Amino acid sequence: MKKYKVGILGATGTVGQRFVSLLESHPWFLVTQLAASKHSAGKIYEEAVTGRWVLQENIPEKVKSMVLKDAKKDFEEISENVDFVFCAVNLNKEETIKLEEKYAKCECPVISNNSANRMISDIPMILPEINPEHVKVIDFQKKRLGTKKGFIAVKPNCSLQCYVPAIFPLLNLGLKSINVCTCQAISGAGKTFESFPEILDNLIPYIPGEEEKSEVEPLKIFGKIENGKIVNFNSLKISAQCLRVPISEGHTAAVFASFEDKIKKEKILQAWKNYENPIKGLNLPSAPNVLLNYFEDEDRPQIKLDRNLQRGMGIGLGRLRVDNPGNIRFISMSHNTIRGAAGGAILLAELLCKNGYI
Ligand code: NAP
Repeated sequence: MKKYKVGILGATGTVGQRFVSLLESHPWFLVTQLAASKHSAGKIYEEAVTGRWVLQENIPEKVKSMVLKDAKKDFEEISENVDFVFCAVNLNKEETIKLEEKYAKCECPVISNNSANRMISDIPMILPEINPEHVKVIDFQKKRLGTKKGFIAVKPNCSLQCYVPAIFPLLNLGLKSINVCTCQAISGAGKTFESFPEILDNLIPYIPGEEEKSEVEPLKIFGKIENGKIVNFNSLKISAQCLRVPISEGHTAAVFASFEDKIKKEKILQAWKNYENPIKGLNLPSAPNVLLNYFEDEDRPQIKLDRNLQRGMGIGLGRLRVDNPGNIRFISMSHNTIRGAAGGAILLAELLCKNGYI
C-alpha cells in the first residue's frame, strides 16, 4: 500500500516527539518532513533533541538524520512535499491561526494539537469515537478558505479526553450537569521533572486557560452541524477545576455528575459497556479495541499501572458510586500525550484518510 507522506510541525517538542515515536512504524503514514522553530532549523533531528528527548523509547533510526526545517518560513516547500501535516507548536493564538491557515491555503491539510483554532465554527474538533460526522463541516471551511484540498481539523484539549468519552454515553440518560476536577501531568505543559523542579512535592492549583477550555470544548464536540457551522450543544452545564500535579504522563479526572432523575449504578455501567462506537467498523490502525475500560478494583485506574491501556489510547474508569438518587461520581484517566495529543491526532488523521478528506 502506498503510504501518505506526513510532516510534523513542532517535531522537537513534547508532543512532536510523541508523533515521531508513534509514527515510526505506522502502516499508512510515512514521516518525510520535520520542522520546528528557526533555532532548530538546519540541524539534524538527533542533534536538535539532544538533552530534550523526553520519551523512554529511543529516537527512531529513520528520523535521526533528517534535517529540520523552519515551520514558519518553509511552509511552501513543506506543503509541496507532504500529503498533510500534524501541528504541535508553541506559538500564541494569532501566530498559530496564521501558520495553520498558511498551510491549509497551500492545499496542505493540517491536523492540529493547538488550541487556537478549536472554537472556530467551521473547523471540526473531533474525538473520533464521539463525533466523526463533524468532518463534513470541512466542505464549508474549504469554501471560506478558497481551497480544494487544504483545511484545518483539530483535536480537543488533552485533559477533557480522559472524561468526555465517559460522559457522552450518559447524555441520553438525563445528564444535566457535571463538575470535574482534573489532575494533570507536567508533560501537558511540555515539561519534565528536570525542567520543572518546582513541581516536586507540590501541586499548582492553576493551569492558564484550562478550565475555560474544559467547560466549552465538550459542548462543541457534542454539537451539530447547521448551515455550515457547528452549533454547540446547550443542555449540559460543566464546571471545571484543573490542577497541575507531580506526574510525568497521564491525566486523571474526578467527575461528579447530576441527572434529572434517579439513576442506578448498573444503568451507567451498561451505558459504558454498550456504547456504540461509531468508528468501530473502520479498522483505523490507532483505534483502541475497547475505548471505555471500567475497573472493579477500588484502587484503579492508576496512572502508573493504567496509562498505557490499549497502547495509550484507552480510557480507564473506576470508583463509580451513586451519591444520592440523582448524582454519581467516578474517576476517569487517560494518557495525555498519546490519547490526549499525538495519538488522538493520528487517529483523527486516519479517520480523515478513510473518509477521503486526505
Ligand atoms: P513544547 O514541548 O514546548 O514544543 C513546542 C514546539 O514548538 C517545539 O518543536 C518548538 O521548536 C516549536 N516552536 C516554538 N516556537 C516556534 C516558532 N516560532 N516557529 C515554529 N515552531 C516553534 O510544546 P508541547 O507540549 O509539545 O505543545 C505543543 C502544542 O501542543 C501546544 O499548542 C500545546 O498547547 C499543545 N498540546 C500539548 C499537549 C501535551 O500533552 N503536551 C497536549 C495537547 C495539546 P524548537 O524546539 O525549535 O523551539
